[in-house]
Amino acid sequence: MTFSEFKFSQTLLNTLEKLNYKEPTPIQALAIPEILNGEDVIAHAQTGTGKTAAFMLPIIHLITQLNGKTDSHKKAVNALVLVPTRELAQQVAKASETYCQQSRLDVACLFGGANIGPQEKQLAKGVDIVVATPGRLLDHIIKGSVDLSDLTHLVFDEADRMLDMGFIGEIKRIMRHVPQNRQTLLFSATVDETVLKNVSQWLKDPKRIGVDAPNTAAAKVEQLFYAVDDERKRELIAYTIGKNNWHQVLVFTRTKNYADELAKELNKDGLTTQAIHGDKSQGARNKALEQFRNGELRVLVATDVAARGLDIPTLDYVINAELPYVAEDYVHRIGRTGRAGKAGTAISLVSLDENWLLEEIEVLLDERLTPQWLPGFEPDLTREPKDNRKNTAKSRKQRDKKRILGQRNKRRRKN
Ligand code: AMP
Repeated sequence: MTFSEFKFSQTLLNTLEKLNYKEPTPIQALAIPEILNGEDVIAHAQTGTGKTAAFMLPIIHLITQLNGKTDSHKKAVNALVLVPTRELAQQVAKASETYCQQSRLDVACLFGGANIGPQEKQLAKGVDIVVATPGRLLDHIIKGSVDLSDLTHLVFDEADRMLDMGFIGEIKRIMRHVPQNRQTLLFSATVDETVLKNVSQWLKDPKRIGVDAPNTAAAKVEQLFYAVDDERKRELIAYTIGKNNWHQVLVFTRTKNYADELAKELNKDGLTTQAIHGDKSQGARNKALEQFRNGELRVLVATDVAARGLDIPTLDYVINAELPYVAEDYVHRIGRTGRAGKAGTAISLVSLDENWLLEEIEVLLDERLTPQWLPGFEPDLTREPKDNRKNTAKSRKQRDKKRILGQRNKRRRKN
């Protein structure tokens, strides 16, 4: 299949040729015809499957056609993409600008933590496509700096994560400012009851499409699990990266403290490393990402909050220094590798205290995941898990709930 089968304009086809996109990815092949047909869509799609182009290319085509039919020279916001994090906002806006490069469409990227003034100025000049985090978009709506009354396309990107982060209130308020008559698209790595219950009220008779079955890890990723004691994880990470001569390795931690500590230690091991997490300024995060992209950094340590929007097309290796508390985060983490058809490897280090987290991932993926022992890093079997007594299902659930709510509140404050 080729892109020309979608009857895209020659300008858009030229852009795709320039980008060396030879054929649509599976999610693009399924989503683009439905979107061009005007259908609302719910799509299961992992990061790295080409989902941004799956919604943005047909939107660009439709908006360009619409603009051609009106005499008005007034620029109106035609498309709004809501995303959970500032990193994802930047990534989606950057990709959209690339896809719009030969059109006259302008893209604005609105996210919190950045000065609102320049965003207001850009909006005042008129933009066609807005990519925004819910909190900052609401700020602009309240200030009257954005007008969504001409909106024709609305996208919920990574809808599951937006709900996880507790943005439902903001989304409900935003929905009061968008017209009824619009096309709505929802992209999500997991499409479960929570997503459907909360968001499907805004979609009209949506077409359900999905390349990956829901809740499965990206197919091309090789998943390895090593049982290892906590205090030897740093050593194992440095050893694995060094021995295999890996460059550009993304390492995940649960907490910002551990991210900082690990980055410090890996630097001492001779691996150029930076940590990114919610407490780092936007400038520091961007700089670290840029250095990681251009190869100045060999390792980037990230928390789940910082992870969502990373766009590193050639990423081959992900290491989970700690398993996430929320099993869905595992799917998101390893979705950073094996992008657009490229194979990837995800290594997860599992300490004795983390076995129950591995079980949660097994339940989510419906797959048995067996940790191996790496020679020289075998775990100490004489130990007892630190809080084995508390690892009963009930107390685990209570502790988890507390942690998840804490994480959610923190994330909301950050975005
Ligand atoms: P996404 O899932 O939107 O984050 O896209 C993942 C990566 O795939 C990005 O680096 C895109 O530039 C790339 N990509 C998207 N569509 C295609 C395509 N049809 N052919 C080749 N690469 C693509």
